[in-house]
Amino acid sequence: MNPIPYGRQSISDEDVQAVIDVLRSDFLTQGPCVALFEKEFANYVGSKYAVSVSNGTAALHLSCLALDVDNGTKVITTPISFSATANCIRYCNGEVVFADINEDTYTIDIDKIKSVLESEERGTFQGIIPVDFTGRPVDMEALRKLADEYGLWIIADSCHSPGGSFVDSKNQIQTCGNGTYSDLSIFSFHPVKHIAAGEGGMITTNNEALYQKLLKLRSHGITKDSQFYQNDIELAGGLSSYPEWYMEMQTLGFNYRLTDFQSALGMSQLSKAKEGIAKRRMIAANYYHALKDSQFLIRQSGLIDGHAYHLYVIEVKDRLGLYKFLRSNNIYAQIHYIPIHLMPYYKARGWKDGDFPYAEAYYKNCISLPMFPTLTAKEQDFVIQCIKDYYNE
Ligand SMILES: *Cc1c(COP(=O)(O)O)cnc(C)c1O
Repeated sequence: MNPIPYGRQSISDEDVQAVIDVLRSDFLTQGPCVALFEKEFANYVGSKYAVSVSNGTAALHLSCLALDVDNGTKVITTPISFSATANCIRYCNGEVVFADINEDTYTIDIDKIKSVLESEERGTFQGIIPVDFTGRPVDMEALRKLADEYGLWIIADSCHSPGGSFVDSKNQIQTCGNGTYSDLSIFSFHPVKHIAAGEGGMITTNNEALYQKLLKLRSHGITKDSQFYQNDIELAGGLSSYPEWYMEMQTLGFNYRLTDFQSALGMSQLSKAKEGIAKRRMIAANYYHALKDSQFLIRQSGLIDGHAYHLYVIEVKDRLGLYKFLRSNNIYAQIHYIPIHLMPYYKARGWKDGDFPYAEAYYKNCISLPMFPTLTAKEQDFVIQCIKDYYNE
């Protein structure tokens, strides 16, 4: 049996061809594929606007900047995510405030957010960054309601859930990133995620002002759109209209652009994303039924409608033993994640063991099993058999 990772990309001949076509064209970066990819991605999630960026972390950074996170801005997020989710607040000198997870969903617990909000004066907190951890969509409608009560914005970290959805109280299917309940949503195209572009990211929104802000921040703070110019045209050389070469740097931005060949790969991958999710849901169902009556199991989520299954996590007894046994069988299960507040950087900022008991209990027992669309039935059977062998069940 070949090594089985917890996640991997699948690159088809069409994907390769799409990249080659761009490499042979006139545009390596900022060509026609960038705008096309944005349009198709916005279509896929059902948002008005999409802004592509160089990676998911850049998407988080620009989102915080667009929402004016600044010195001392307090933003609430989950301790169970990739550290970039919290780091983006720090990039802008904001203050990270964690709220513990729910022990069943593993996503940020709305009641814990409420306690945080009620613990301080109104106006203390400015925003929430929830994460659709493992691909399980958070109830964004409920979060929006709470956010509105306190005047907060929401950046949804949907890196695990492109194509995922939940049903709201009006019985409407809400696709992750469609902007109905969150101000901004962000995605990553790192190879382990649903859609691979090497590196890459996307921000989606229905808010035009934020969209314009993001476009500028992505590219040095420069605009080339004359309707937004601030300088007098006299300053541009005493001409009667702005010359072709004219542009303005209006704010301190970055170079966070996605290249044209990455966009071509992203687009090609996007065309297979629905198939990929269907496959992931099938794999999840297999795990669920094979493991549900096991004595070693502490918890596994039920099968959830709309779950995008970026990860398939179970909580087990003797997790370390299982992890090692799987590795000795060439199965590279992973642990997602070490709680962010226990990372040395955050500990140095005042957090400690015991601060978030649900996140810490989860971390003690969790293990992410192999989950990717090209995992074969034979490979999955082998994974399940190895788990059962380890526990003699
Ligand atoms: C992958 C990931 C990111 C960061 O995305 P990159 O493209 O790797 O920068 C942020 N948040 C979550 C939840 C992720 O899984």
